[in-house]
Amino acid sequence: MGANNGQNNSGGGQLNIAAADKCNLNCVYCKSPVSGEMPSLTEICKRVKRDGITGMGIGCSGEATLNPQFPRWLEELRKAGVTRITLSTNAVALEKPELCSAVARGVDFISINIPSHLPEVYKKITGKPYLPKVRTALENLDAFGALRKTALAHIVSALNAPHLDGFAQWVAKDLRDILFVDFVFMQTCGRAEAKPQLLPDYFTVSPHITRALDTLRAASVKGVAQHMPLCALPGHENYALELQRWQDGKPALESDMPDLVPCSACKKCTLALACYGVRADYARVHGLDGFCASRKDPKKIPRLNYDRPERVR
Ligand code: SF4
Repeated sequence: MGANNGQNNSGGGQLNIAAADKCNLNCVYCKSPVSGEMPSLTEICKRVKRDGITGMGIGCSGEATLNPQFPRWLEELRKAGVTRITLSTNAVALEKPELCSAVARGVDFISINIPSHLPEVYKKITGKPYLPKVRTALENLDAFGALRKTALAHIVSALNAPHLDGFAQWVAKDLRDILFVDFVFMQTCGRAEAKPQLLPDYFTVSPHITRALDTLRAASVKGVAQHMPLCALPGHENYALELQRWQDGKPALESDMPDLVPCSACKKCTLALACYGVRADYARVHGLDGFCASRKDPKKIPRLNYDRPERVR
């Protein structure tokens, strides 16, 4: 796991860890490919006790569910004092009901990285034909009553951009109990650093993303756009996670700050404080064309509300 041994403290009593030394997918844009170094549960638990850690994010590298001891890890972390566990997973291994049951019981929030609902696109992005396994995993999570604490992370790249609304339609039809869908605009780091062609243009993708978000909203499924500048979401700014964070009184950007570039439009823009801004890796590939200063008052942009009736089973 490199110098930090697969751990980083994101502050506020939260520790992010890896729980495995391998992955069962080979995603073309993976930000943190595995190092092959297995983290130590004993060391992690010692640190939890020493630093009074109560929140644990699992999955910053590697696929935790491949660790044969993963259910025991969940139990030991609780015993050490962790009260809230979040898991980032590709869910492939959760096709096994026993493992899925342990995760459903032991994890408070599950984020599933699923790059497509289409088998051929899923395989192109991940290198594996495992979409049917993920579908089974989602059925398992539903059977264990865990969909309401599960979100879908849909990394937006040039490979799936034309299919975003189809993905939203699939979720609206088959997965209406999901907590939310997070359309995350990809970054050209890690494995994607040498593949700038994977990074789509914000303004070309925008109609696909906003249509998909509207499709989810029509089905009362929450959807957000992450790592998108607000001027690329005209009339749909309130779908941006960064604006929502700002509306909640938090900084628009999370603690792992992107490398941003100065942009003349941003300097004049009334939305700058609530916006993700212009990322350096994006500007290197696509330049600064299209970014335009807004005169909107971010305080007057209405918040989104979702009315979610209980499903009758
Ligand atoms: S001009 Fe800059 S600050 Fe304004 S919405 Fe666009 S990216 Fe955000």
